[in-house]
Amino acid sequence: MGRQTKIKLENVTKVFYKRGNSITAVQNISTEVKDGEFVCLIGPSGCGKTTLLKILAGLETPSTGNYSISRENKDKPLQSMVFQEKGIFPWLTVSENVAFGLNMQKLPKAYVKEQTEYFLEKVGLTQFAKRYPKELSGGMKQRVSIARAFANDPEILLMDEPFAALDEQNKYILQEELLNIWMETKKTVLFITHSIDEALMLSDRILLMSAQPGQIVADKKIELPRPRRFEQIRSDRDVAKQFVEIWQHLQTEVQRSRLQTT
Ligand code: ADP
Ligand code: MG
Repeated sequence: MGRQTKIKLENVTKVFYKRGNSITAVQNISTEVKDGEFVCLIGPSGCGKTTLLKILAGLETPSTGNYSISRENKDKPLQSMVFQEKGIFPWLTVSENVAFGLNMQKLPKAYVKEQTEYFLEKVGLTQFAKRYPKELSGGMKQRVSIARAFANDPEILLMDEPFAALDEQNKYILQEELLNIWMETKKTVLFITHSIDEALMLSDRILLMSAQPGQIVADKKIELPRPRRFEQIRSDRDVAKQFVEIWQHLQTEVQRSRLQTT
């Protein structure tokens, strides 16, 4: 292996203050993500997953602790984010949405066009290039977000439950498309999900978080070879065992977070 560390978090804690109360969203998070690695973060609702991603996106600052994202090319954006929804601009066409970040960087027109067309093709949206988001299905909108994120060619990709609102069939198709693009571009991805199946399908490693305050309580390597098929996730004995372990962990943590809030 010997791959370089791309993302490093050292004892990152984030405390929010609201109306005299303090909420520790994440506590003492320390981990590393290697260059080109696909890591999923899974944990009960409210455990600080989005907060952690926002810190890495530069949208929040840690209360204590440090993080770093190693830069290979200082002309490239440090990170791109893909959210569950509202990630694309309704007043721009599909191709304008994909080109948005590139145009912001004032890159040469020919390069912007080439990148945009390439990634639109990758997500199967070439013939929808001139459409507006309101004319698209949920799955297509997420494809636009994904195409834009990769077209930007960032150092790292941060994805916050991008497929959570999709139906099972669409979700699976988008997972496959995402993996194809990921394998081709070798990007470092940190991906949040609620779905154990999704995490097992996508990850090189799964980081399990505790209920609030969110801490990383397990770090699991998923050795299943790629490309993976959903049937394997359900039939491979080792993976099935990991599914159960993660399931039990989540049950415990969800229970714990319920006790805290009720
Ligand atoms: P998750 O994404 O795992 O569901 P979040 O990171 O969104 O969790 O939130 C973690 C905790 O931090 C929650 O209790 C949430 O209410 C709180 N929180 C998140 N953002 C803020 C904020 N800007 N101000 C106050 N509290 C916040
Ligand atoms: Mg969240």
